[in-house]
Amino acid sequence: RAKADGRGTFCFFRDEMAQTVEARRILELDLRKALANEEFELFYQPLVNLKTGRIATCEALLRWNHPVRGTVSPIDIIPVAEDMGLIVDLGRWILRKACIECMKWPEGVSVAVNFSPQQFHQRDVLSEVRYALEVSGLSAHRLEIEITESSLLRNTQLTHDVLSQLRTIGVKISLDDFGTGYSSLSYLHNFPLQKVKIDRSFLEGIDSDRPLTLLRGVARLSADLGMSVVVEGIETNEQLERISADGTVTEAQGYLFSRPVPAVRIRQLLNASHGRHLSEEQLLAVPS
Ligand code: C2E
Ligand code: MG
Ligand code: MG
Ligand code: MG
Repeated sequence: RAKADGRGTFCFFRDEMAQTVEARRILELDLRKALANEEFELFYQPLVNLKTGRIATCEALLRWNHPVRGTVSPIDIIPVAEDMGLIVDLGRWILRKACIECMKWPEGVSVAVNFSPQQFHQRDVLSEVRYALEVSGLSAHRLEIEITESSLLRNTQLTHDVLSQLRTIGVKISLDDFGTGYSSLSYLHNFPLQKVKIDRSFLEGIDSDRPLTLLRGVARLSADLGMSVVVEGIETNEQLERISADGTVTEAQGYLFSRPVPAVRIRQLLNASHGRHLSEEQLLAVPS
C-alpha cells in the first residue's frame, strides 16, 4: 500500500519510515486476527442525569487486550480499522455486544454506541441496527448511536433519510464531541438529532476564571432546539457545579462519576444502586 512503486514521489524510504510501515503492517495483521480471537472488550462509562442523579446511559468504549502489547486504546484502533475496511465487521460486533449487555441492566438505563462515519454510511446500516436489536431483544428506545460531525459532512438526502428512519424506529442519535470539528451550528437544526455531547475541551480553564459563556451558549441553543445536552469530561466537583448552575445541561459524563469500567463492574454498579450513582453530597450540589 505504500507509494513505493519506483515512479512515485517517495522512491526511497528512510529507515524510520520503513519501520513505521512495517509496524503498521503488523498492527493490521494483528487486528484481523483479534476479532476471531476474541481479544476485543467493551468498557462502559456512565452518563448521569443531573436532575435525578441517576445513571441514564452507559457509553460502550472499545478496548483491545493485545496478547503482547497489553491494552490498546481505541484511538489507535479505530482509524486503522477504518483504513482496512475492518470497521464494518468490528462495528457490527460492538453494536451487538453492547445491546446484549444492556439487556442485563435495569430497564431505565440505555446504552450508547459510537459509530464511525464508514459504519454510519454503510448501505444497510438500518438493517444492522434492526438486527442487533432483534438478536438482543433490546427495545429501540434504549439504544443511542453516537456520531460525530464528520458523519454529517455528506449533507445528502440519504444521510437525512438514515437519521429519520433511525428516529422512526425509536433509536436516539447523539452528536458526539461537539465543538471539535467544523462545529457548524447549522448541524444542530438541519439534522434530526436528539442529543448533543459538548466536548470536554469546552471545560478548559473553567476551574479558574474563564467564563462559561461559550459552553452555556451552545447548551442553551441545543436545548432550545429540543435536544438533550451532555457535557463530557467532568473531572471535578467544581466543574460539575459550574455546568449545572443554570439547569440547561441535562447529563454529565466524566471521571468524577466513573472511569470506563469492564462490563461486570458496570453491572454491579447499576444493580447495586438501581441506577443511582451520585453521592448525596453531589446530589445536593445539583439544582432540582
Ligand atoms: P468519545 O466517544 O468521545 O469517548 C469519550 C472518551 O473520553 C473516552 O476515551 C473516555 O474514556 C474519555 N473520558 C471520559 N471521561 C473523561 C474525563 O473526565 N477526562 C478525560 N480526560 N477523559 C475522559 P476512550 O475510551 O479512550 O475513547 C476515545 C475515543 O475512541 C472515543 O471518544 C471514540 O471517538 C473512539 N471510540 C471508542 N470506542 C469506540 C467504538 O466502539 N467505536 C468507535 N467507532 N469509536 C470508538
Ligand atoms: Mg462517544
Ligand atoms: Mg465524546
Ligand atoms: Mg471524544
